[in-house]
Amino acid sequence: MPKRMVLQQYFGYDDFRPGQEPLIDGILAGRDVLGIMPTGGGKSMCYQIPALLLPGLTLVVSPLISLMKDQVAALNGAGIPAALLNSSLDEASYRETCWQLRQGMHKLLYVAPERLENEGFLRLMQEQEISMIAVDEAHCVSQWGQDFRPSYLKIPDFVAQLPHRPVVSAFTATATAEVQADIVQRLELIDPVKIVTGFDRPNLYFEVRRPTQKLPLLTRLVEDRAGRSGIIYCATRANVEKVCDHLRQRGIPATRYHAGLSEAERRQNQDDFQFDRAPVMVATNAFGMGIDKSNVSYVFHFNMPKSLEAYYQEAGRAGRDGEAAECILLFAQGDVATAEFFIHQSGDNNEALTPEELEEIQARDYQRLEAMVGYCKTSRCLRGHILDYFGQRHEARCGNCGNCRRAFVQVDITRQAQMILSCIKRAQAKLGYYVGAVLIIRTLLGSKDKRVLELGLDALSTYGIMKGTDKKTMRDYLDAMEQAGVVTTEPRHKTLRFTPASGAVLFHGKTVSMTQAAETAAPRKRSASAPGAPLSDGAERVLTALKQTRRDLAEREGVPLYVIFSNATLADMARRRPTDLEGFLEVSGVGEVKARKYGKAFLRTLAQVQED
Ligand code: ADP
Ligand code: ZN
Repeated sequence: MPKRMVLQQYFGYDDFRPGQEPLIDGILAGRDVLGIMPTGGGKSMCYQIPALLLPGLTLVVSPLISLMKDQVAALNGAGIPAALLNSSLDEASYRETCWQLRQGMHKLLYVAPERLENEGFLRLMQEQEISMIAVDEAHCVSQWGQDFRPSYLKIPDFVAQLPHRPVVSAFTATATAEVQADIVQRLELIDPVKIVTGFDRPNLYFEVRRPTQKLPLLTRLVEDRAGRSGIIYCATRANVEKVCDHLRQRGIPATRYHAGLSEAERRQNQDDFQFDRAPVMVATNAFGMGIDKSNVSYVFHFNMPKSLEAYYQEAGRAGRDGEAAECILLFAQGDVATAEFFIHQSGDNNEALTPEELEEIQARDYQRLEAMVGYCKTSRCLRGHILDYFGQRHEARCGNCGNCRRAFVQVDITRQAQMILSCIKRAQAKLGYYVGAVLIIRTLLGSKDKRVLELGLDALSTYGIMKGTDKKTMRDYLDAMEQAGVVTTEPRHKTLRFTPASGAVLFHGKTVSMTQAAETAAPRKRSASAPGAPLSDGAERVLTALKQTRRDLAEREGVPLYVIFSNATLADMARRRPTDLEGFLEVSGVGEVKARKYGKAFLRTLAQVQED
């Protein structure tokens, strides 16, 4: 079967995403591959499709046990025989899965890297025909990467003990040049096909805020987005507790996740989030690797992470359905100290390293931190800052980040300040007293206002010299001049007065400038992957009904929502409103197995809402 048919039949998509095709082709031609794509770019498909086309078994090495279950559920849901082996299985299920593997019943097997060091597991695998080992989150093999996992280093040993060397494919979303080189070397990839797709996620809006108090701002941001799903990352468990408690007290359906909770509670809370029973997740960075919740519409950072890699990966969990999503980081200078503390402390947990290695790692961690702090403080395009870091070319301004939207420029207003000051001076000279801003502005604009004429201000040489300027701009000039200290407002009578610096502007070449918003930013870009235009009102209503149907099905089957269909798929369904199974198969993200399984339920819903 050609790869495109697999894409359509099993996954229900018509076209490959950038990078997927060459990686799949490479694997099918027997080459090792290294795929570097942003989070949500569609890495899994790159090994899942070849896994179905190659003979025998594909072994997927994935770092987090808790998430394998969902990935396997999603594959099974699409009619693909896949299983997992990990320490969470009881004895009986473990045996059952081993038996199934011996019968050749599975195409994919998910394991944590530690499993590869297990003797029994090695023997089991030696009996299998293994066509490929797919290494997910491959940056974990690199000590320069941010999530180093020593057991990833054992992968080549494991491969060497197999009767035939399978294809080794590696995937990651974090890829500075040095991490890439490290992956190739440490996983011993042989002349790999390397594909680096663009890192830009145009549907994500980036912003950095520097509030004096974070909690009230965060609360407001979350309340303003009621009904939407989001993740709030905190640097410490204590912060997770504090923020989560605070949000719950305000009646926000939030849940929490950090390494200090029991396995059972983490599982429960993650499920609550996935099922949208608690659409707001407050978590440390322990949460999220491999999470495939497509409808996360914002990721807020209560604290600054320790690197841009970490930030982009975490923020990247927003908007995976291609819809517009927001990534807002709340920065405070204290975050830098916390991050430095973590770097410093990391030495204590790394006994396997020599002091020289440790020093080098810490030096790099400090470099990473510096780039992260740079992001928080820059007034340039935030997206540009990120893409620079990953070595990708980009336009100077993206138009969809906080800095592009509120970009400011300094404009010189010395000439305007001179006209205003000389008008103030002449009015004072004529009248013998100072007047207020309103009269000065009217005089400069050449107004026929009664007071201006009564006082004879129309006889001044400055009368009308700023004609054509709008009043708001005149006010801005005066504000800027006041900030620069070249004019002052007398508090009691609100009259405009000279300061010691006024003369310098009028007679000695002192310049005055004003910060001004740059030309208005471009409207938000939509991702090319968002299928079609925004929904009409009618379609929104249909979508709500479809979501309810999805929720019912998910609850009945005990699987996360996305295992049924992603938000993007439901949106496409609402747009197309298919009336039969054939039309249903046309919807993006609907494969044959899912059409058979869920088609009836969704078609019924569509028929019902059509009638209302
Ligand atoms: P990654 O592992 O790179 O973070 P995933 O493999 O989880 O990303 O894919 C993210 C989402 O994109 C999933 O919902 C997946 O079904 C979807 N996807 C993957 N490939 C395609 C494609 N060719 N067309 C449309 N959607 C796709
Ligand atoms: Zn920008």
